[in-house]
Amino acid sequence: MHEYSVVSSLIELCEEHALKNNAFKIEKIIVGIGERSGMDKSLFVSAFETFREESQVCKDAILDIVEEKVELECNDCHHCFVPEGIDYGVCPQCGSKNLEMIKGREMHLLSLEMIGQID
Ligand SMILES: [Zn+2]
Repeated sequence: MHEYSVVSSLIELCEEHALKNNAFKIEKIIVGIGERSGMDKSLFVSAFETFREESQVCKDAILDIVEEKVELECNDCHHCFVPEGIDYGVCPQCGSKNLEMIKGREMHLLSLEMIGQID
């Protein structure tokens, strides 16, 4: 399952961050999931709950998911905008249909709350 491999690398990433910051525990993980990422939120959560058990630093972490809207960039005038409907239509600035999705297709780590940090 796609969600499982994404979560597995997410946990790895969290462990790297914890190590870098001398943290022994991660309390909260905030991730952004694009609405067009094709990711199933509930599958993502259950995958996370499975994987965190195996990770010493992530074991008690709370997962917070922020849904991210799709954002488009016009290839003609480079205007960036959030489309209103699922029908992405045209650039509101120049009317071009030559659009590129620059946000909303991925999952990424937004923020981590850790304990045990040494500043
Ligand atoms: Zn445009």
